[in-house]
Amino acid sequence: MTNLFTATELTRVFGRGEGAVRALGGVSLSVEAGVRLGIVGESGSGKTTLVRLLAALDRPTSGSVCFRGRSLGRRPRDLADLRASVQLVFQDPRSSLDPRMRIGTSITEPLRSPLLRGHPGVPLDPGRRLVEVMVEVGLDPELADRYPHELSGGQRQRVAIARALAPRPDVLIADEPVSSLDVSVRAQVLTLLLRLVEQDGLTLLLVSHDLAVVRHVCDRVAVMQAGRIVEQGPVASVYDAPRDDYTRRLIASVPRLPGRSGTFVRG
Ligand code: ADP
Ligand code: MG
Repeated sequence: MTNLFTATELTRVFGRGEGAVRALGGVSLSVEAGVRLGIVGESGSGKTTLVRLLAALDRPTSGSVCFRGRSLGRRPRDLADLRASVQLVFQDPRSSLDPRMRIGTSITEPLRSPLLRGHPGVPLDPGRRLVEVMVEVGLDPELADRYPHELSGGQRQRVAIARALAPRPDVLIADEPVSSLDVSVRAQVLTLLLRLVEQDGLTLLLVSHDLAVVRHVCDRVAVMQAGRIVEQGPVASVYDAPRDDYTRRLIASVPRLPGRSGTFVRG
């Protein structure tokens, strides 16, 4: 299999001097095409910082990220390739969607950006893609004229997912995509995400502090602690036979882990 991402010895330090925070302390990671990788770890362990570096939304203090074998940040064309191929869904759609923008405009905005327009694989007709993608995420296309505040939390996150899928990416990075939602709609949105990932054959990076969710959705998992990956491997072996002490404690702290056929209905 081909490596999509290769991160080598990534560090990220925020701030300077005494107040400096080392968010990442040397993370190396390979992500193969087609994999569904869960990134778990307690709050503050560096999960968001790591995925932001992979998506080139931030620059490392040291170390490097290669996407499809090319080092990020060297040539504008490589960045365009990354922007067209990798899309993100964040935790809180209230902050990731522009409140003054109609949701139809939000969803098609990436398609109209000069960086992506005409890029191979990116749909050329925003109007047509809008309807397609709204139907795919289970939103009535008539909602396209509404503003984010007129929708429910679950609908807003469906909009964020539609926006991410609009350019037909190869990779979806979802950072705690259901954590801000009511418990009652979490499983629905997660099931939707999983269906779309399977349908489009997407590579998935799923950040979650919920180990049960990762076990259900992912085939590999990386466990982060204090800015490092302390353990990674296939979900079954990490969960059933963790080699790292911290992983063992993390897993033990989850009351009951359902199996893959547990809590959520796939399909
Ligand atoms: P996680 O997503 O696992 O909760 P983060 O990657 O958000 O962790 O944060 C890792 C550490 O880096 C935390 O200590 C956090 O406070 C710090 N941090 C993250 N972003 C910033 C920032 N922009 N400025 C200062 N500190 C930050
Ligand atoms: Mg985070």
